[in-house]
Amino acid sequence: MKRVDVCVRGAGAVGSCLALALSRQGLAVALQAPARAAPARQDVRTYALNAASVALLRELKVWDALPADARCPVYDMHVEGDAAGSALDFSAWSQGVEALAWIVDAAELERTLASAVSFAPHVQAVADGAVDAALLAVAEGKASATRARLGVAMPVQRYGQRGVAARLQSDQPHAGVARQWFRSPDVLALLPFDRPLPGHGYGLVWSVPDARADELLALDDASFEQALADATGGAAGSLRLCSERAAWPLTLARAEPVFGKGWVLLGDAAHVVHPLAGQGLNLGLGDVRALARVVAEREPWRDLGDERLLQRYARQRAVPTLAMGQLTDGLLHLFASDAPVLRELRNRGLNLVNGLPPLKRLLASFALES
Ligand SMILES: Cc1cc2nc3c(=O)[nH]c(=O)nc-3n(C[C@H](O)[C@H](O)[C@H](O)COP(=O)(O)OP(=O)(O)OC[C@H]3O[C@@H](n4cnc5c(N)ncnc54)[C@H](O)[C@@H]3O)c2cc1C
Repeated sequence: MKRVDVCVRGAGAVGSCLALALSRQGLAVALQAPARAAPARQDVRTYALNAASVALLRELKVWDALPADARCPVYDMHVEGDAAGSALDFSAWSQGVEALAWIVDAAELERTLASAVSFAPHVQAVADGAVDAALLAVAEGKASATRARLGVAMPVQRYGQRGVAARLQSDQPHAGVARQWFRSPDVLALLPFDRPLPGHGYGLVWSVPDARADELLALDDASFEQALADATGGAAGSLRLCSERAAWPLTLARAEPVFGKGWVLLGDAAHVVHPLAGQGLNLGLGDVRALARVVAEREPWRDLGDERLLQRYARQRAVPTLAMGQLTDGLLHLFASDAPVLRELRNRGLNLVNGLPPLKRLLASFALES
């Protein structure tokens, strides 16, 4: 294969978006995926994507290619603490935005991206092996082998928790309301979705200690639905399970450094955060926007693998990545503790923030743009 400008290693959502974004600049891109069969199991997750991620997907002509029922706007968000009456509400209307987030089918997003990549003029799909390229962009996910080969450290903090995901159907309309319960040590999120029934679906992400995750996965469907009813108090109607359940171990990790001469890390290969704020992929797509911008604005004489160029990317991403890691970690510890003082503090905190519209606007804008 002849030399290309950029080799993107990893064809997940982050790697595929990067390949598309660079191809739009006329760069020759090799998109490298492992030569293996497609996974037997369908990804049951739904992703909450922020406005900046949706804008990127629109620009790449991917957003409008998604089936209409695979993306659902969130107009309101209701967060409950673990004391009666402690709650925080956000609404798109009061933030002055079209939607607080969009819930997207994870498997459908990857399918649509794969199709877009297959039509992209300057992208060629390649299997494993070395590729002659000016820049190697590593988007292999959290267990990246290339990152390890490059000798990059990525200390991992394990939460001893797993995120149990599934698809649900309610007997009541979701009305575009996302719901989240912070009940020590669990964090349960119901994300409004239009599958299997328009207006009545939810994506579930239930973060629980490992032992509880084992229990939830082992329950029969009826017992799992009863556990959900107990946890949500029926606030989202009667919930029926309509997919398999799957669970992901939850960690916090950040690679350092994220670039070197001729290589750069993006997405989960560079940082992993707890999904309680639904921001991991949003951060990864933020990486894509930053790297594509830095590449587009480079001096004509500067090589794509130039460390000075890649340092600009690393500088732009350092603060959002660190801030999101600290925010999710801080929230998790605040809400995981059973200490009465912390319990009192967090529940008062929710009510306090709820009564302060400027602070709520600040929090929402952070989540919308990370
Ligand atoms: C339960 C749960 C819920 C979540 N919810 C949200 C949410 O609501 N919103 C949000 O923004 N984020 C969410 N996330 C985070 C999101 O899933 C990740 O941040 C995102 O999938 C990372 O994408 P990626 O492309 O970087 O990595 P991955 O999706 O892991 O993709 C990496 C790709 O690289 C490939 N690969 C690996 N090794 C090689 C190799 N050697 N050569 C070539 N290819 C290779 C893999 O096969 C894979 O295709 C959630 C995560 C979990 C666990």
